[in-house]
Amino acid sequence: MSDRKLFDPVTIRKDFPILSRKNRGKPLVYLDNAATTQKPQSVIDALSSYYSQNNSNVHRGVYELAEDAENLYRSARKTIADWLHVNPEEIIFTRGATEGMNLISRSFAQPMLKQGDEIILTEMEHHANIVPWQMVAKETGAEIKVVPLFEDGSLDLNKLSEHLASPKSVLLSLCHVSNVLGTVNPIERIIEEAHQNDVKVVIDGAQSVPHLKVDLRALGCDFFVFSGHKLFAPMGIGVVYAQSSNLEKMSPYQGGGDMIDQVSFNGTTFTTGVQRLEAGTPNVGGAIGLAEAVKYLEKIDFSRAHPHEKNLLSLTREHVREIPGLVEHGTTPDKAGVFCFSIDGVHPHDLATLLDAEGIATRTGHHCCQPLMKRLGHEATARASFSIYNTDEDVVRFTSALKRAVSILA
Ligand code: PLP
Repeated sequence: MSDRKLFDPVTIRKDFPILSRKNRGKPLVYLDNAATTQKPQSVIDALSSYYSQNNSNVHRGVYELAEDAENLYRSARKTIADWLHVNPEEIIFTRGATEGMNLISRSFAQPMLKQGDEIILTEMEHHANIVPWQMVAKETGAEIKVVPLFEDGSLDLNKLSEHLASPKSVLLSLCHVSNVLGTVNPIERIIEEAHQNDVKVVIDGAQSVPHLKVDLRALGCDFFVFSGHKLFAPMGIGVVYAQSSNLEKMSPYQGGGDMIDQVSFNGTTFTTGVQRLEAGTPNVGGAIGLAEAVKYLEKIDFSRAHPHEKNLLSLTREHVREIPGLVEHGTTPDKAGVFCFSIDGVHPHDLATLLDAEGIATRTGHHCCQPLMKRLGHEATARASFSIYNTDEDVVRFTSALKRAVSILA
């Protein structure tokens, strides 16, 4: 990887080998970063080096190779914890954000929830932050309250305050950044208000960590989840941050190896710390890959990611201004670089198919946000989502192809 102090997307994209491949015979323009990001060579190399030099199961071996794998795994946890400004003992590895939400809802919330308790969600949540809560609500008799949105995609904070003030509310779970609207929720003040009302806060950071530097110690949330694959790391690895006093209250989520103290047919005692919540052989390679992705982001001026992606969004808006019937979903001023839209009389899947033929990868559908789609009045929408390696040229290729597609379809 080239060493650079400046944030230069043209240089950055050279670190991502996949970006030089073709899509339907045309140079790839990858604009599906909210679904998953591409991986820099350093992450690919870290995975390859782990499997070619250091692969061993962790926690049990006494041989050198096992120690090497153990050290790499431990140091990966530390790198990620340092990056988030928390302790390694507060970092639980999962398969991703979805497993993280299932872990928190089952292991922390379910044992404390009782009939009539209220769990607060918002209308912009991904299914991963809805369905696990519905499952535990069904089993405990808790109720789900939903904070509505304004037209621009911002949260109705007065309604949120009303829910937080209810003596029945026990937990709020919301996204930091919406994967559809790009809305960046004011989580600092929301967390503060929730805590004043004795309400626990879970933050779905799946769409924030790839764009914004997050300091969990300063935020003070109870839990934070994200997926490695949206952060330039491999699939199958994710993180739950659990603030230490909450961690102590979490009951084992899955049973098996690695999470026990003593097992007999008369019963089992569990080990302590995060290992109690990480049953079975962990994804060691994934954790190492995620740590490498974090190291990569530390080498570029990551504070410029959000402004850069916002510039790409502004350029997109300029270029599509004359497309008749185009409506952008989510127009809050400081939104993330996500351009989700509908065009009157044009089906988003047809649009995506024509864009694909020109080498442009975008996403259409409900984006795992069916309640939000209902609020927007669409079954499906189209979405282009930007990342650190996208350039003005990508925007020009995307918007020119979009105009051609619309002229055929509308
Ligand atoms: N939360 C948000 C806001 C997301 O955008 C996604 C994925 O798109 C998820 C959660 C779930 O992530 P994963 O499928 O990696 O578990």
